[in-house]
Amino acid sequence: MDNYMKLTVAAKSPNEAFARSVVAAFCAPLNPTVDEVNDIKTAVSEAVTNCIVHAYKDTDNGEILIEVTLQGEVVHIAVADRGIGIKDIAKARQPFFTTGNDERSGMGFTVMETFMDTLDVVPNEGGGLLVKMSKAINNRSR
Ligand code: ATP
Ligand code: MG
Repeated sequence: MDNYMKLTVAAKSPNEAFARSVVAAFCAPLNPTVDEVNDIKTAVSEAVTNCIVHAYKDTDNGEILIEVTLQGEVVHIAVADRGIGIKDIAKARQPFFTTGNDERSGMGFTVMETFMDTLDVVPNEGGGLLVKMSKAINNRSR
């Protein structure tokens, strides 16, 4: 393991921008391109937003745990909550599936899958959801 960080934030909307910026800053030593940073930021943003909007829709006291590991040229990101969880994860991952209101398009997981190399969505131990994703930083200028 080359480096790692763990961050716990309250599940409140201002922390969505905070979390994606922190993760992007942490990945900087790998010299990602602007496109690669934007992909990572967007994926983190979708995962964190899901915790705020869905996992903790019935409470103000939710926490989101974000873990990032840099291993060689690969960034591993985990976003975990202890909210309501998902009964049918395969169904929830399908494009356009949403339990949200008109503002939601049901594309969050699809965006994460498209912008990252890998995406795993599993129940979190003890309740809630664990979203794991990874991306190789292939910048040749490194
Ligand atoms: P969009 O992301 O496009 O605004 P969305 O959030 O509904 O819409 P996805 O991010 O793909 O779409 O999520 C699909 C569905 O999975 C959600 O509508 C919700 O039912 C469920 N879901 C996603 N993340 C969580 C979570 N952390 N906890 C509980 N349910 C979740
Ligand atoms: Mg979403």
